[in-house]
Amino acid sequence: MIGDRELLREACAARIHAYAPYSHHLVGAALLGRSGKIYRGANVENSVNGLSICAERVAVAKAVSEGEREFVKLAVVCGDTGFCRPCGACRQVLFEFAPQIQVVMGNTRGEFEVKSLAELLPAAFDGSSFKRSAS
Ligand SMILES: [Zn+2]
Repeated sequence: MIGDRELLREACAARIHAYAPYSHHLVGAALLGRSGKIYRGANVENSVNGLSICAERVAVAKAVSEGEREFVKLAVVCGDTGFCRPCGACRQVLFEFAPQIQVVMGNTRGEFEVKSLAELLPAAFDGSSFKRSAS
């Protein structure tokens, strides 16, 4: 299986294609599917602020729309310092498909840390209350 450092490099490659003329905050993501295939994503901003989409969710949408729904690991990178953190919306979208996923959060210098999604989104909303109320 692909290592954390290699997946982070994939995220750095994805970041090159970020479209961020408003925030200038370039983000890249690389999502490793159970199949072994890697789906890259970059943030895509819009002049209507609410229509912008994060790199992580672009990667998930690419994967799901190509038939893959099980994921092992996600790498995300933004600047050259600190560790890039997925926003709350992206954490919830990851939880939908991969509650057990590992998240590699890094920077363009190749430094990173790894946390589980369970650490990043404890007591997540899993839709169970919604399902109960529907019956
Ligand atoms: Zn996000």
